[in-house]
Amino acid sequence: MPEIHARRRAALAALLHENGVDALLVTDLLNIRYLTGFTGSNAALLLHAGGDAKTLFCTDGRYTTQSEAEVPDLERLLDRASARALAAHAAEQGYGRAGFESQHVSVEEHENLKVRFDRVELVRTPGLVEQLRVVKDEVEIAALRAACAAADRALAALIEAGGVRPGRTELEVARDLETRMLEHGSAGISFASIVAAGPNSAIPHHRPTGAELSRGDFVKFDFGATVDGYHSDMTRMVVLGEPADWQREIYDLVHRAQAAGAEAVRPGAVVSEVDAAARSVIADAGYGEQFAHGLGHGVGLEVHEAPSLAAAGVGTLSAGMAVTVEPGVYLAGRGGVRIEDTLVVRDSGPELLTLSTKDLVAV
Ligand code: ZN
Ligand code: ZN
Repeated sequence: MPEIHARRRAALAALLHENGVDALLVTDLLNIRYLTGFTGSNAALLLHAGGDAKTLFCTDGRYTTQSEAEVPDLERLLDRASARALAAHAAEQGYGRAGFESQHVSVEEHENLKVRFDRVELVRTPGLVEQLRVVKDEVEIAALRAACAAADRALAALIEAGGVRPGRTELEVARDLETRMLEHGSAGISFASIVAAGPNSAIPHHRPTGAELSRGDFVKFDFGATVDGYHSDMTRMVVLGEPADWQREIYDLVHRAQAAGAEAVRPGAVVSEVDAAARSVIADAGYGEQFAHGLGHGVGLEVHEAPSLAAAGVGTLSAGMAVTVEPGVYLAGRGGVRIEDTLVVRDSGPELLTLSTKDLVAV
């Protein structure tokens, strides 16, 4: 879809004008993918403020064919030291000021680039592409929607097949879930899946072990699929057998907090206030100390990206941002509950992408 990449590059060119640089050397591979569609492992892009006619893409000989297909709309250079080759090009062309992604470049590489850029003034311009990436276009939202759908279908299939049952280990269940994601349209897993049973469910980022599921356990699933490089992120709870009173109680509490957080997701909302909307529900019930992480995060080409929905987060939400809302209550030694959705901020109210039921599922 070359036109969507051209549109993103045009938006970035406008930012370069605002920042007073002639060009930006893009070296982060995800940013390059966002701007060009290239999915290989070595590339750099010298995006000129004057537009695509002056913009140069560089990769190495391993990607000749792939880059022809993925980046048909930009002039290409083949050089293994792609960033340095583009820096030398900027020097030859006599650019005045060039920005670079200082948050992604090592001190060593910065020294190397300075030499190649020669008399070009090198300016730190961190986060320009990320500034664009935080608001998703409809092509990105469609990929996120597809990734979330693959995860929804995989969890439903796992439960329907009786895959969540006493005697299976967390690891077995996690592998089963991941296989089902691939079968249901996921290109890969979004991050290391969390399957946490019984007392392990009280560990927010538990890694699956050989521990067996038992009757009465809470089982927490936090997992995601990927489609076209975009990640989904969802947490759901299953209980093995009839839920105990304490399980119902904390589940209902987290469910209410999650709904309050999602309700607060709208354009213009201050991120710390979205966090507070959910957190206050849990704190009012006396479990504030048992919710020791932020409410959510942006999702896109990375599973964790801006904005951060946290008490210490800064900024406001805008239409088109994709964020998670994931409050939790964790009772050490007993079990914990987290419920997480991926949502898109819309003027008309949040669009829910993760559609699996949020009623407590008992199997
Ligand atoms: Zn998650
Ligand atoms: Zn998350």
